[in-house]
Amino acid sequence: SAAPLGSSVIPIVNKLQDIFAQLGSQSTIELPQVAVVGSQSSGKSSVLESLVGRDFLPRGSDICTRRPLVLQLLQTKRKSDGSGEEYGEFLHLPGKRFYDFSEIRREIQAETDREAGGNKGVSDKQIRLKIFSPNVLDITLVDLPGITKVPVGDQPSDIEARIRTMIMSYIKQPSCLILAVTPANSDLANSDALQIAGNADPDGYRTIGVITKLDIMDRGTDARNLLLGKVIPLRLGYIGVVNRSQEDILLNRSIKDALVAEEKFFRSRPVYNGLADRCGVPQLAKKLNQILVQHIKAILPGLKSRISSALVSVAKEHASYGEITESKAGQGALLLNILSKYCEAFSSMVEGKNEEMSTS
Ligand code: GDP
Ligand code: MG
Repeated sequence: SAAPLGSSVIPIVNKLQDIFAQLGSQSTIELPQVAVVGSQSSGKSSVLESLVGRDFLPRGSDICTRRPLVLQLLQTKRKSDGSGEEYGEFLHLPGKRFYDFSEIRREIQAETDREAGGNKGVSDKQIRLKIFSPNVLDITLVDLPGITKVPVGDQPSDIEARIRTMIMSYIKQPSCLILAVTPANSDLANSDALQIAGNADPDGYRTIGVITKLDIMDRGTDARNLLLGKVIPLRLGYIGVVNRSQEDILLNRSIKDALVAEEKFFRSRPVYNGLADRCGVPQLAKKLNQILVQHIKAILPGLKSRISSALVSVAKEHASYGEITESKAGQGALLLNILSKYCEAFSSMVEGKNEEMSTS
């Protein structure tokens, strides 16, 4: 299939994000990210993992995701023989490349414990991880702790409110795409995911509904009406997926096998015939890519004007300092100049080729 548009456009976004993270001022520019929200154990980490195509996130029936994980996927070039290396790198361990993805999972767990303790505590301090791979879409994903109601372990009594506040701090940003994850075996009308997504994005311009666990619905029921938006309509619609079960995880079943099994699942269920564009992780990836591009196009003018005004104010500050280029202000102006150039390049890329989209 065609070269993914993301590979040419999103690196610039990721670069901007990096620069701002280094400056410690992430809120200066709100860049598009994709965050997963939902109840604990709804399948959020599983969905992200399937999108990435590698096993590396702590998943399970208990609370696993206890700190926000900001996951920057970076597409690398394949070698001429078709191969290409895949590795991860954490912001808190610069320069250390993780080629073994189960080691990445262990490091996420260890780093979670370092900040949030070993007894189910939750922290809003981010873990930042880059995954370099020839097999990914260039995109930044945020895995968030799930909404829980009853405090366990070292969790404070107001755990639900705290987690909701943490989730909102990500998804309220107008540039954040929201994957609202609800398991098919629970009532959509009770969905924490749709509820919190609805608070952050009342008009539903940036919320995609993801229905997980289609394989373990009550016998005699199916998700057809959910996926068609007949139960709770959602502007951007729903995608149904089948992730690995806890048993699959214990049996070390690979993501690749799981994707094959997912495809087989949908193919063998006549009720999902005709809904092919709403079924499966590959469709989710495709939808995300399309929405992301539209989204970036839409926020670009605002982004540009904010950079320009920041540039003006830093330039003023710079002038007030005189000609000391080693100063913070001088460096800031230089940086903003660079950013502004990025934005222009970015703009022309988006304007230039917005139709070619692919997920692989
Ligand atoms: P999170 O807490 O929302 O991040 O959920 P996880 O991704 O950690 O998944 C919670 C549990 O549900 C794990 O045991 C998964 O194996 C299981 N699970 C997730 N999605 C599915 C699915 O589509 N089908 C089945 N059978 N199990 C799933
Ligand atoms: Mg999780």
